[in-house]
Amino acid sequence: MKQLIVIADMEGASGIFEHNASWNLNGGDEWRNFGRDCITSDVLAVCNAAVDFGIDDILLYDGHFAGNTEFNIILDKLPRTVRVFDVPDRCFDWRRIRAQAMQEPFGLITVGQHARNGTLGAYFPHTIQSPPIKNFLFNGTHIAEIGAGVLNFHNVRYLANIGCQASMQEALELSDSIVTIPVKDKAKKWEPSPDETYELIYAGVMKALRQAQHAKEIDLKPPFVFSMELCDGYAYDTKADISWKGTVMADKSEWTAPSVEIGLELFNYVRALIRKI
Ligand SMILES: [Zn+2]
Repeated sequence: MKQLIVIADMEGASGIFEHNASWNLNGGDEWRNFGRDCITSDVLAVCNAAVDFGIDDILLYDGHFAGNTEFNIILDKLPRTVRVFDVPDRCFDWRRIRAQAMQEPFGLITVGQHARNGTLGAYFPHTIQSPPIKNFLFNGTHIAEIGAGVLNFHNVRYLANIGCQASMQEALELSDSIVTIPVKDKAKKWEPSPDETYELIYAGVMKALRQAQHAKEIDLKPPFVFSMELCDGYAYDTKADISWKGTVMADKSEWTAPSVEIGLELFNYVRALIRKI
């Protein structure tokens, strides 16, 4: 069986720009009537290419606005080959997500992806949630949604990233052998509609699947060290007792973990210590 893992976000989807959408693409009318159609079109292009290539099982993680019960992607519009990861309210429950996939899926594709906090020439750059998160580092490399998803599947070939041109930087830092499929470019003012990018995504994904044997898994060497700095106006609760191996200072936390999946899951516990000041 050929299983494809697809990890989707929304801010990097086709057709969504700062002049036609607010940063708050989270559950309001704009999200419901506009944002969902944009990301659904991009994910549909990925899935249709995968089915036509011969993928028999697509496992989708719809990670935008995690914690909300409703899906961003309109699942009824996707082929029947698509299943979603079973995680309560789509939360970043990374070990549970990894455990539901095959040990050796065919590959991994990220879609709807935006650039990290602080990136210039990017639509909606942020690191998971900025503010409060200024940066999130894994072994010294700044990772955001792309990095978390790809590292969680580090022993799976990373095939392609689809999204804002500025998001390609993070994806390429993780693997320089991926196919990059930009759907918008703020620096070049290239703002096509989802209908216009559908064929680009389909063709790029088909290419990535055909050349999958050239794609790479992410090479990781322990120890696995994570750190997270906060934006101005936020601080960690330094009085809280922590049960994991790490340190928590007002503006920065650091932790180590025996595996990437556990380290990514500890992120949720560290994040829960963030307070507005
Ligand atoms: Zn998002």
